[in-house]
Amino acid sequence: GGRATARTLAGPPAAADLLARAAALAATLPVTPAIAFIRVGDDPASESYVRGKAKKAAELGLDSRVHALPADTTQADLHALIGTLNADPGVHGVLLQLPLPGHLNADAALTCIDPRKDVDGLHPVSAGLLWQGQPGLRPCTPAGVMALLDHYRIPVAGQHAVIVGRSALVGRPLAGLLLNADATVTVAHRATPDLGAVTRRADLLIVAAGQAHLITPDMVRPGATVIDVGINRVPGQDGARASLTGDVHPDVAGVAGALTPVPGGVGPMTVAQLMMNTVQAAAQQTPADRRNGASGDVPR
Ligand code: NAD
Repeated sequence: GGRATARTLAGPPAAADLLARAAALAATLPVTPAIAFIRVGDDPASESYVRGKAKKAAELGLDSRVHALPADTTQADLHALIGTLNADPGVHGVLLQLPLPGHLNADAALTCIDPRKDVDGLHPVSAGLLWQGQPGLRPCTPAGVMALLDHYRIPVAGQHAVIVGRSALVGRPLAGLLLNADATVTVAHRATPDLGAVTRRADLLIVAAGQAHLITPDMVRPGATVIDVGINRVPGQDGARASLTGDVHPDVAGVAGALTPVPGGVGPMTVAQLMMNTVQAAAQQTPADRRNGASGDVPR
């Protein structure tokens, strides 16, 4: 008999839609939105992430610059650079690429960023505004998930959303965004007993655990929408190249109603949302009388 296959929620068309909206907002501004990246040390993954983000900014016609600091940078030097960028009216967004070398305190550095320039949405003020349901800059991956759901017209209001993972980067802010969008929200994590009993209750299951194939078909309600945020590197076998896989087992496609692929699902949304955040930050920092119609209000 035929096996049901979930609708694929591809990231690239949804990301293109978000980038087009960012470009349209940028076109209403009297300034070119500008983002400054700070990277510390020589972690190759961080280097490649920053390169990708800067490339996307250039494609969109935004200004960007990269401050690559040596691995032995002190906390004081890092804070001094952030202070300089905060005070520079030509910079609208400041992004500190994580992780930092072990001797540096990321939370302390993130807290130094001017919240108006906090395009990664990780400053405690941004987190507080999110949880109060007030406008503000939102973390890129969770906001990107919301944009993906919106693009594919997946209902959120009144749905039971279950999130697996409670990190400050993904799980927690996503819970706030889903609450603000009128979902009923459950957050599961490493200490949740019988994870499947919780995930089976989800109309909307969003997984950000960083555990390859954690979610198996028996853990998913038939017809549920499943969003796979996980990116796990699996070593290649028998000389094959290493590959990327999500937190959701591929067989879940036989049970779910809709499913994001990995790669090519949530990943492209994160970078697109960063561009939108940068344009929104620039709009907020541009006096209203110099703007060309658009309010530049940061949406909820
Ligand atoms: P993290 O390690 O900070 O947090 C993982 C969370 O998952 C924790 O709260 C933990 O309690 C929970 N968890 C771990 N194992 C679990 C288990 N067996 N059962 C239930 N809960 C479990 O990770 P993170 O930064 O939130 O990232 C999560 C995943 O998302 C990673 O694979 C990461 O690479 C990926 N990610 C993707 C993007 C993107 O752009 N697509 C962006 C950020 C993170």
